[in-house]
Amino acid sequence: MQQLHFQQGPIRPPSEADSLLIRTTQGCPWNKCSFCTLFDDMEFSIRPVEDINRDIWAAKAFYKDRKFTRCFLQDGDSFAMETTDLLEVLQTLKQTFPELEQISSYGRAQTMTKKTPQEMKAICDAGLNMLYCGMESGSIDVLKKMKKGITPKSILKSAEYAKQAGMKMMTFIIMGLGGKELSESHVTGTAELLNQINPEEIRVLTLAVKAGTDLDDMVQQGAFTPLTEKEMVEEQRKLISLLDGISSQYGNYHSINLLMELSGRLPVAKHNLLSTLDRFLSMDSDEQNNFILGRRIHYYTRLQDMENRLYFDTVQQQLSKIGNTNPTAIEEVFYHLRQRMI
Ligand code: SF4
Repeated sequence: MQQLHFQQGPIRPPSEADSLLIRTTQGCPWNKCSFCTLFDDMEFSIRPVEDINRDIWAAKAFYKDRKFTRCFLQDGDSFAMETTDLLEVLQTLKQTFPELEQISSYGRAQTMTKKTPQEMKAICDAGLNMLYCGMESGSIDVLKKMKKGITPKSILKSAEYAKQAGMKMMTFIIMGLGGKELSESHVTGTAELLNQINPEEIRVLTLAVKAGTDLDDMVQQGAFTPLTEKEMVEEQRKLISLLDGISSQYGNYHSINLLMELSGRLPVAKHNLLSTLDRFLSMDSDEQNNFILGRRIHYYTRLQDMENRLYFDTVQQQLSKIGNTNPTAIEEVFYHLRQRMI
């Protein structure tokens, strides 16, 4: 296999699987969120422009005639770069890969709001026209408890900056991030903020508590009570019912989510999204457990996959092995299966 002569970071959004990946920063400038271990052993640094430009040319040589229409700038926050440096990198990218239509990056609200509106516009005009925002929640209490280091106000301000500059914005939210204690605040705060931002896309993730995180400690100490799978579905139902006046694409694309069919453009898709959630919620608990286990052990992707009798019976056998009459034991199995998916 041909060897890469340019750096690749450890993460990219799932939708950037076929994109050109260019690394502008290493790690995350914050690196303190209670639930995250992504860059645990990596100190944040901004790569020198010469190194990034050298990587862009090395990528061109490596991919030869391959055409890329999308590029994702890794790792955690390209907006941490000096604006002039970022503009230089974008210029090199456009020269080297002139067919690029979209250049995207993660951007932290705290970093972006340090740029002036003029700088943001210049960055967008130079090609960085798509922003991934790890908002996770719109509740100040949840953001504080998770040590996100951002507030709903700063998220809204950065979203306004990005939009005024002409950037599309994709926001990630995490179902279950408030636990039982802050579920209500999580849902209402998140819906309220999303209604204010009206992002191009809302991407849903489902919480899985990673071993060794601060959040894991909170769970052990009783300060955070994880929602059950069913409660997370109920939470998502409430969230969608509160989304109002926005035209975002709403999607459950990550395999950690239970109901992968929950996807569509608002407001038209709202009715279908709620119907799918109601379909799951109206099943009896045996069927719900069958579906959850079937999803977690990869027999099902969608609710209709339960109609496959062979799959249904196989999952049912697995369920009876873990004792399908003991709800706590089953929920614990689901919790650990979810943990293994991250
Ligand atoms: S900002 Fe993102 S990458 Fe950084 S610690 Fe928080 S969740 Fe992890």
